Amino acid sequence: MMEDALKPKKRIFMALTSVSALIGAIMVYMVWRVTVPGLAQINWTLPIAFGVFSVIIVIALLTGVVGIVMALLGIPVMKLLFVWAWKAINILFPFAVVLGRIFNIPRERIEQSFIEVSNNLVLQHKVKVPAKRILILTPHCIQRDTCVHKITRNVENCRQCGGCCVGSMLALAHKYGCSFAVATGGTLARQMVKQARPKAIVAVACERDLTSGIQDVFPLPVLGVLNERPFGPCFNTRVDINKLEAAILTFMDDEEAKEKHAKTDQQAS
Ligand code: SF4
Repeated sequence: MMEDALKPKKRIFMALTSVSALIGAIMVYMVWRVTVPGLAQINWTLPIAFGVFSVIIVIALLTGVVGIVMALLGIPVMKLLFVWAWKAINILFPFAVVLGRIFNIPRERIEQSFIEVSNNLVLQHKVKVPAKRILILTPHCIQRDTCVHKITRNVENCRQCGGCCVGSMLALAHKYGCSFAVATGGTLARQMVKQARPKAIVAVACERDLTSGIQDVFPLPVLGVLNERPFGPCFNTRVDINKLEAAILTFMDDEEAKEKHAKTDQQAS
């Protein structure tokens, strides 16, 4: 479990965020040192006040990183520390990307690592919500390019012909009673989230969209499932339906999941 918690993918993001937090702390200290003489001339209390403020920032940064590592290792952390750790990964992400550029680490790898860390924190938090408050969200590129049905307006327009993954995703949404939406872009996705007012989201997308989506809807819990791109990016993409179902079940209460399974079995027989 512990080894699994810090697999190489997660380690990339954790290493970059730790270094970012450390550099941030050094910079805050240097700013304090440089401004002390000027501040002291204005008022002798100012260097102390600014010093206290700087220490709070440094502690907050480092605590966030420690909180993430502890949560990933499965070490119980206080709720407050957990929430802060969750926030810290979103704040530190842009810094991790800049550092990654310096160390020649492709952005996609950092994003994959960020998604794994974020998923892991959501899993550790054991969020349970009613199925009807779970939103399955995916970009339009998952629909077969030749399909004539307008599923972005209403996903129920899908005929579940098996030509693409939309049909199986819709079947899953029906099975568990979740909301399901297909968005043509980030703006529409945000609108859909506002309309559906979910308590948890299962998002299917590429690294870039998942990363920005997770940050956009924070603090809503999101489980990200990476799409498959056998024909290249943004064209006839696919998703592993088993992974999607597992993500939905993660957010569902066991009793409700059992009930929905029994109902489906009854209908099938
Ligand atoms: S499964 Fe639905 S969206 Fe996909 S090709 Fe068939 S009708 Fe179109």
